Amino acid sequence: MHTFPPLVAGNWKMNGTLASLAEVDALMEKLSGVDPACDVMICPPFTLIHPMARTLGDSRIALGGQDCHWEVSGAHTGDIAAEMIADLGGAAVIVGHSERRTDHGETDEIVRKKAAAAHRAGLVAIICIGETIDERKAGRTLEVLSTQIAGSLPEGCDAANTIIAYEPVWAIGTGLTPTTDEVAEAHAHIRKELAAKVGGEDEASRVRILYGGSVKPNNAKELMGVENVNGALVGGASLKADDFFGIISAYL
Ligand code: PEP
Repeated sequence: MHTFPPLVAGNWKMNGTLASLAEVDALMEKLSGVDPACDVMICPPFTLIHPMARTLGDSRIALGGQDCHWEVSGAHTGDIAAEMIADLGGAAVIVGHSERRTDHGETDEIVRKKAAAAHRAGLVAIICIGETIDERKAGRTLEVLSTQIAGSLPEGCDAANTIIAYEPVWAIGTGLTPTTDEVAEAHAHIRKELAAKVGGEDEASRVRILYGGSVKPNNAKELMGVENVNGALVGGASLKADDFFGIISAYL
């Protein structure tokens, strides 16, 4: 049965202009002489997907979107369909990032529809889940993760079309990270809960579960070494080639 390599994915959020493609050139240069044991992806703002695809050419770096609408087309001003991301050569789309859940009031139901749209368009859905600091302090982390998995994953998820990103909300962009024991506990729980969603434990064992939240070059190796961690979703540190390469280097 096919096993999927770990994935290090960069989420550029609302950062980057055409000038930022220089960082992609620099990253390609750094990757040219090495062969890390992971897939690499960048999810730039929509405005950069097409120019970045041209910069990347046939490089090993894949492209993804940061969000999509659940419809194929229509009267949804400012939104982007999953099919549009696929049209530009995107391979995946992030859905349910906590910033979208907070800034745009996205519920598990909306996230589920978006993930289903990603699958419809042939994209891998990178589905983000994670607890707030209040939920963690109240001892509710695992319960929150269970609820989000039950609500955010559509029918038809499998290890080929779905990646889970565990992103404690309080760790995103803060420089704070959970302990390795806390990461291990969350990832083991997610793996267990996935079985019911992907048709059993065997399939669940192959689903990639990324850790996200203040991953930096100096903590990547430790975090990526935790059991059931199959890569990273990286925000701030993905913007600079040096930092992103430093994180990818956890797999060298
Ligand atoms: C993210 O936004 O997905 C993220 C993990 O951000 P950061 O790495 O900056 O904490």
